[in-house]
Formats: sequence, structure tokens, C-alpha cells
Amino acid sequence: MSELPYPYEAPASQALFDRAATVTPGGVNSPVRAFRAVGGTPRFMVSGSGPYLTDADGREYVDLVCSWGPMILGHSHPEVIAAVQDAVGRGTSFGTPGEGEVALAEEMVARVAPLEQVRLVSSGTEATMSAIRLARGFTRRAKVVKFAGCYHGHVDSLLAAAGSGVATFALPDTPGVTGAQAGDTIVLPYNDLDAVRAAFAAHPDEIACVITEASPGNMGVVPPLPGFNQGLRDLCRDNGALYVSDEVMTGFRTSRAGWYGVDGVEPDLMTFGKVMGGGFPAAAFGGRADVMAHLAPAGPVYQAGTLSGNPVATAAGLAQLRLLDDAAYAKVNAVSQQIQAMVSEALTKEGVAHTLQNASNMFSVFFTDRPVRDYDDARAQESYRFTAFFHAMLAHGVYLPPSSFESWFVSTAHDERALQRIADALPAAARAAAEATA
Ligand code: PLP
Repeated sequence: MSELPYPYEAPASQALFDRAATVTPGGVNSPVRAFRAVGGTPRFMVSGSGPYLTDADGREYVDLVCSWGPMILGHSHPEVIAAVQDAVGRGTSFGTPGEGEVALAEEMVARVAPLEQVRLVSSGTEATMSAIRLARGFTRRAKVVKFAGCYHGHVDSLLAAAGSGVATFALPDTPGVTGAQAGDTIVLPYNDLDAVRAAFAAHPDEIACVITEASPGNMGVVPPLPGFNQGLRDLCRDNGALYVSDEVMTGFRTSRAGWYGVDGVEPDLMTFGKVMGGGFPAAAFGGRADVMAHLAPAGPVYQAGTLSGNPVATAAGLAQLRLLDDAAYAKVNAVSQQIQAMVSEALTKEGVAHTLQNASNMFSVFFTDRPVRDYDDARAQESYRFTAFFHAMLAHGVYLPPSSFESWFVSTAHDERALQRIADALPAAARAAAEATA
């Protein structure tokens, strides 16, 4: 590692971070941005163009985070920017219905067969929170099954990830979530259908829904084992519960129709965010029309939002979705495969034990030689190797997610020049990973 400018200085970012820390808890508005898992100075970005981000110190990075998924066409895509400028020119928020939200809903419904109706919201958290409320209101049941390692936003009842024993009531994972809020959440190990079967047996007629990431990306990328999602679908149907597929991360990223387009398992309710907002705060939940009919004002389950269906956000999302044709997905998938192969080759060359896992074009590197099937497997990796790898890539102008428990994201804008930058960075980063000590 000695030949690297490592850790190199980022004085302008550091100055901004110091300023931020006085007015914002931890200096950031979303915890993982603070680099706590890897240490060092979080880079404050000032602009993005195609596959690149530029930080406050004027350094350019190939971006493998893509705003945690949304920027699937790269940054500042001209057609998305034009749609936004056009929308902004007509006003930014009306608090009334508008055509843009109808068009975005129509585009989503046309792409995803089980999505008969959608309600637009402003964040993935709001989408999953609302879907859970609707599932409870529809079934008139209280309990919710979720899986350890799956993240569904910071919804009180879904922040429970502890207590993974079958049918064990979870303890809240964070102060501020009360036992009452988490007490109806049952947390089970991912990819374990027997555990789900046992939970239904232990709580007959009590479980409103099972919520799962369609293909998890929040413990690193851990795809469902063959038959797992279908098994959940069947168990829910057999037990009068709803199957809620969280596609906030996978939706319109893993295929035209998201993960549903990959495995074809039909959920009762689905949640979306990220790609559908084109880089703006737009998200959604939706699904079976008879379930959605329970939502106010059509039905009794209340849900609302001042900025829901915002005209600028819906214009950005619609422009992005309309550009996402089969050729675009083929491009993103090809770029993803190329980067995965390059990473694996570099790590193998240095003798670093690793496992690359992918869900379509989402992928992550686990520093372990074993397949990762659940959260316990993910936590068993040698994360300290990722830290060394991360900083070496950063020093060479490649921006990775600052945690070993995150998916990497690519875009249609990742071209040969960007790939070459990654290829140039990898040998030293692989060496850094090999030399790292716990
Ligand atoms: N669900 C999943 C699968 C996610 O990955 C996320 C965010 O990363 C969320 C929900 C929450 O979305 P948001 O951060 O927009 O609230």
C-alpha cells in the first residue's frame, strides 16, 4: 500500500464535514454517507456527469454507487435534465392532481403485471410503511414477518432485526422504537422457508403480511435461493396473509419489470423508489386493485402526502423510465458483468478469498470464500479487507459504497474510459486487501 497516496487528503471535503458536524448530527443526512464503516473523510460531491462524480477538492471519481441505485442512466442525463427543466418552468408543486403522476403510474403499471394500481409517495420508507399499514388494514391482522438483513427503510416496525429465532418477537434495533412498535414484527433468517412455515403455524390468523426485499441488496447482494420467493408467495396465500415484495432497490433496475421481471413471482403488494424517481424523491406502493381499494379516499386506510406525485419528480422519473428499454438493460448488465470479472480477477491474482454475488446488474463482493445466503453469512466475511480495498480504490479515483454490506451500482453511462479507470485501480486495491490485517 505504500506507493498509494493513502489516506490522501481531501481538505475541502474535510472543511465541509467539519461545518456540517456543527449543524447536522454526525455531519450527514443519512448515516452510511459518513464513512463510519471505513473511516476517513466523506467526499462532498459538487457535480456528477455520466459515470463520474467530482468532489469539493476537484477530484473526479468513477461512481459505483449511482446515488444508491437511482442513477441508472448516469448523472445529468440530457433527456432527464431537459424533462426536469421543462417541468420546473411550469411550477414546482401544486398540491392538486396533475397529468405527470398519471403518466408515471401508467408507465409503471404497463411494465409490472401484478401492479394494477399504484399510490405515489416521496421515499422508499414511506412506501413500505404505507404498504404495511394497508396490509394490516386489509387483513385486519397485526403481525408482520420480515427477514434479518433485509432493509425496508427506517419504518419503526421494520427496524427490528434482532431475535431471529422462529416466531420470536423481535427486540427493537434502535432506541426510539418501542417494544410495542416492534412487538408485532417477527424476524426470520433469510432464505429459510421452514422458519416461515413455523411462524405461520405458531401464529394462525395473526400474520398480516410477509415483507421481503425482492432480491436483497442491503446485506450485500444475497439473491433468493431458487423457489424461495415462490414459497413465500404460496405460504402467504395458504395462510390468508399478503406477500409484499419490496422492489425499492430492484424495481426498474434489475429488468424492465424489476425483480418481478426476473423471477415472475406475483406479489399482492409491491414497493418502489430509487430508479422510478430519476434522482428525485419519488416512490410508490401498489399491487392488487382489490387491496389498493382499501386506501383513502377509496377506502378506510388513511395515507397522504403534501408532495406526493410532485410534478418535477414525476417528470424526472417518467423521462428516465421511458429511456430504459431492452438495450439500456443489456448495456447495464454487460458493464456490470465486466466489472465483476475484473474485480474477481484482481482479487484472485492476489490470493484474496472472495465471493462475488449478483442479482442481474446489482452485485457485491464478499470477502469470504463461502456463498452468502443470509445475514449471518454476510457478517462472517473479513470486512477489514473491504476497508483497505475501498480506500485504495478511492485513492485511484473509484468511488465504491463505503460499506461491505451494500450493493454496487452501475449505469448505461459507464463507458470504456470509466472501465479503464477501474482496471487501473484494481491491482493496488487487491494488494491492499491481501495485505490488510484485522
Ligand atoms: N427498501 C429497500 C429495499 C431499500 O433499499 C431502501 C433504501 O435503500 C428503502 C426501502 C428505503 O428507501 P428510502 O431510503 O427512499 O426511504
